[in-house]
Amino acid sequence: MTLIDGKMISAQVRAEVKEEAAIFEATFGKKIGLAVVLAGEDPASQVYVRNKIRACEEVGIRSFAHYLPADVTQRQLLELVDALAADDAVHGILIQLPLPKHLDADEILRRIPAQKDVDGFSAENIGRLALNEAGTVACTPYGVMELLKRYHIALSGKRAVVVGRSNIVGRPMALLLLNADATVTVCHSRTRNVAEECARADVIVAAVGKPKFISADMVKEGAVVVDVGINRIDGKLVGDVDFEAVKEKTSYITPVPGGVGPMTIAMLLKNTVACARRANEP
Ligand code: NAP
Repeated sequence: MTLIDGKMISAQVRAEVKEEAAIFEATFGKKIGLAVVLAGEDPASQVYVRNKIRACEEVGIRSFAHYLPADVTQRQLLELVDALAADDAVHGILIQLPLPKHLDADEILRRIPAQKDVDGFSAENIGRLALNEAGTVACTPYGVMELLKRYHIALSGKRAVVVGRSNIVGRPMALLLLNADATVTVCHSRTRNVAEECARADVIVAAVGKPKFISADMVKEGAVVVDVGINRIDGKLVGDVDFEAVKEKTSYITPVPGGVGPMTIAMLLKNTVACARRANEP
């Protein structure tokens, strides 16, 4: 069994991004810029935003943080997105989710132009992924693919099962695996026998949000298991995979923490550089 080291790979990606950001600055005489918008005071969101801003600083990307009160109106937020969309110093716009309940997050996300959609959530970017065209890919599934790539895990012809079909993880994950020529099955809460589907898989990606959901009997000997889940139990982080029971059956497995988690911010930075480059293409 090989443990997939997301910390190490994310450090490699961030080092590459740092070089690319420096080249961009030398070429265009300005820094790459990422706007990060946080509405309200959700403590987890505050931590995520702080980490994203720190990560930007470390690689030489300029961050524009916008902290809005929890009672910000839909109109104010839309106006801010429009202003950021028109700002040449801003190459990417990130709205930290979840937004306060009174806001229509879909309308706000739709307002971000696809060229500045560093999260890859827009209909245009999801459409491009579905068509297997170049575009911005959602950071977490993109990070999973980067891990598989850097560990030279072949996907062509492999049977892959994605558990979860959310717009930010499961759905784009399934499309990425399909684009990599895997034979893909997507399981969700209405799937009749998730265990049976998983037990046939060469590659399992778990994005369910349920601690230890993937048990040893659901995993084929030699399978690759990627755990996207982040669950807190008694203050401890655990994934969607029963790691201790499953690990010995696998050929490769990601731990939680230290697997997929560190990749998400690294891929956000990579997406920001790609958006900046595209915006400055002749
Ligand atoms: P989500 O929106 O809650 O989606 C969960 C998915 O799991 C849904 O598609 C749901 O099916 C499916 N599901 C729920 N119960 C199931 C069951 N019993 N059998 C099969 N499928 C079931 O969650 P998410 O945003 O995709 O996130 C998933 C996990 O990844 C969470 O733990 C989250 O914290 C973590 N996450 C980690 C990162 C990272 O950076 N590592 C980033 C994002 C998310 P339905 O569609 O039918 O409801």
